[in-house]
Amino acid sequence: MHFQKNKDEVFEAVAKAATDAHRPSDSVTVIAVTKYVDSSIAKDLIKTGVTHIGENRVDQFLEKYHAFEGQSLVWHLIGSLQRRKVKDVINLVDYFHALDSVKLAAEIQKRAEHPIKCFLQVNISKEESKHGFSIEEIDEAIDAMKAYESIELVGLMTMAPLGASESELQDIFSKTEQLRQRLAALQLPRMPFTELSMGMSGDFKEAIAHGSTFVRIGTAFFK
Ligand SMILES: *Cc1c(COP(=O)(O)O)cnc(C)c1O
Repeated sequence: MHFQKNKDEVFEAVAKAATDAHRPSDSVTVIAVTKYVDSSIAKDLIKTGVTHIGENRVDQFLEKYHAFEGQSLVWHLIGSLQRRKVKDVINLVDYFHALDSVKLAAEIQKRAEHPIKCFLQVNISKEESKHGFSIEEIDEAIDAMKAYESIELVGLMTMAPLGASESELQDIFSKTEQLRQRLAALQLPRMPFTELSMGMSGDFKEAIAHGSTFVRIGTAFFK
């Protein structure tokens, strides 16, 4: 497979985007989103040295997780999670990127056997099709989650609309970073808000320019 070349290109482009933004070259973690392929193909990508794996659906997450059990990989659930599936998966994930309602947080709190690192998903563009809290809803949600001792809010996650213009990307990513800074400054227990999960194959450079620390990349590995 030609995955080594794709892997090297993605990692070099991410490191360059970081240094272009006057940030350390290793300040951005690349999550390889393997949702387009089955475990046998994902295995070839893992051989190239990626260590952070992302899946957006619970069934596919579990399939990959069990296929690679025992390897030292970091597991990211990046897609929306139905409440009834929380118990099947939440204790296996290292990072959950799509915490998008207080009800979901309550279910995670109920099922968690250890603290779960979560990103609050925000919907800056207010796109109907996208999940996530609006900027206006965030403070109330955080207030409700203060009681949930098993939820650690490491940061914010956002997705720009498909085909967003350069100026729309700048607007969405900079607003997300501003919101993150405001929440981090609150210094709430278990809510460090140090991280930003934003940027995919088509827009990771812009996201990194605006402070992203985790990029979720699928297509660029499997093209
Ligand atoms: C599929 C997916 C990605 C990766 O997108 P690409 O454009 O293929 O890089 C990132 N985040 C989420 C939530 C996804 O579902």
